[in-house]
Amino acid sequence: RSRSYVIYFTHENMTNKKILVINCGSSSLKYQLFLMPEGLNLIKGIIEKIGAKDSFIKQEIKDGKKFEKKTEIKDHKAAFKQVVQAILDKEYGLLSSIDEINAVGHRVVHGGEKYSASVVIDKTVINDIEECSDLAPLHNPPNIEGIKSAMETFPNAIHTATFDTSFHQTLPEYAYMYALPYELYEKFKIRRYGFHGTSHRYVMSKALDFCKRAKENTNLITCHLGNGCSITSIAAGRSIDTSMGLTPLEGLIMGTRSGDLDPAIIGYLVDKGYEIKDIINILNKKSGMLGISGVSNDLRDIEKGAKEGNKRCQIAIDAFAYRVKKYIGSYCAVMVKCDILVFTGGIGENSVVMRERICKNLQSIGIHLDPDRNKLVGNHLGVVSTDFSRVTILVVPTNEEERIARDSYDLA
Ligand code: ADP
Repeated sequence: RSRSYVIYFTHENMTNKKILVINCGSSSLKYQLFLMPEGLNLIKGIIEKIGAKDSFIKQEIKDGKKFEKKTEIKDHKAAFKQVVQAILDKEYGLLSSIDEINAVGHRVVHGGEKYSASVVIDKTVINDIEECSDLAPLHNPPNIEGIKSAMETFPNAIHTATFDTSFHQTLPEYAYMYALPYELYEKFKIRRYGFHGTSHRYVMSKALDFCKRAKENTNLITCHLGNGCSITSIAAGRSIDTSMGLTPLEGLIMGTRSGDLDPAIIGYLVDKGYEIKDIINILNKKSGMLGISGVSNDLRDIEKGAKEGNKRCQIAIDAFAYRVKKYIGSYCAVMVKCDILVFTGGIGENSVVMRERICKNLQSIGIHLDPDRNKLVGNHLGVVSTDFSRVTILVVPTNEEERIARDSYDLA
């Protein structure tokens, strides 16, 4: 009896909730308002250049009404004031009171080894996120700043955290352990954490729904190829390996990040007179496709350069595809068989030619891309493999914000 009462009560309480999703960077604040459980996007906005004189806010609501305002926004607290004004604006907003917002879902980059799922934020959670700041010094501090300011701004809402790392907490020890002295793991928690977890989890669910498959008997490889790139191998709904590591620098070649390299290169450059902080800056901001091509971190510019005969652009493209291909091969080797291969992220969703390059000559591991379907699907959800391909290849547009909103809704 009490059980049916709980179900009834929960159902009544959980219909039609408005969830605000927050993604706070050091100088930016992105926000989206969702109507749940439908997942309908009501408002999308961004504040940029927080702390500078020329900060601005841009917002668009679901009927397409847009506005943009330039105004000095000195910190995250001031930024949230702008968000509230914009959401409540009579002409360009949608809500009449901020109390209409039932929950606020925050994107948090690093949850360390503590969080394997999204959580309701309390003092302990804030302390834990602060403790993980060492592991993500550029991301966790602004995330905390955002959480604290949002809690002041929306005191009646439930606040939840969704971590980029949590989906990968299912990695087995042998996949997350670096072959370093074990005490470095014990002392400093140096291990593979993996990132983009929210995106890999989102596209996994979409792919399973689309293929009408149960997660328990399905293996997937999901390729998130954007400015940052990572690839994950998923068995029975659990991440079993992923290409990013202690930080998002490891793995695939990215827009400006090197991905995998011989660690001895760092010592070699130190011997040549480089300082560590400069090397880290090079590896994060001046490497990847930008580093090889010397033209841009944006694949569209590099494709254009290659077409015009720029050799370094062609090498960047080939190296990018080659690295993804190698990871697909190795991730096929760590699962009994791969059922679904997913492409997502700006490059994975949009670049028909990059998907073609990556899948070329992978027939021996059951990956047969259909060139016509690949063109036809473009950047929409759909199958791009042939009917006889053992591995179903899918394009799945990612939506990390919707995933965060769903987690927040479920927790609220
Ligand atoms: P982020 O990781 O910053 O979210 P995105 O997922 O938006 O980035 O991906 C950005 C990348 O997607 C850029 O390299 C861009 O060139 C690429 N991209 C976007 N649209 C296209 C397209 N039509 N063709 C090729 N590449 C594209």
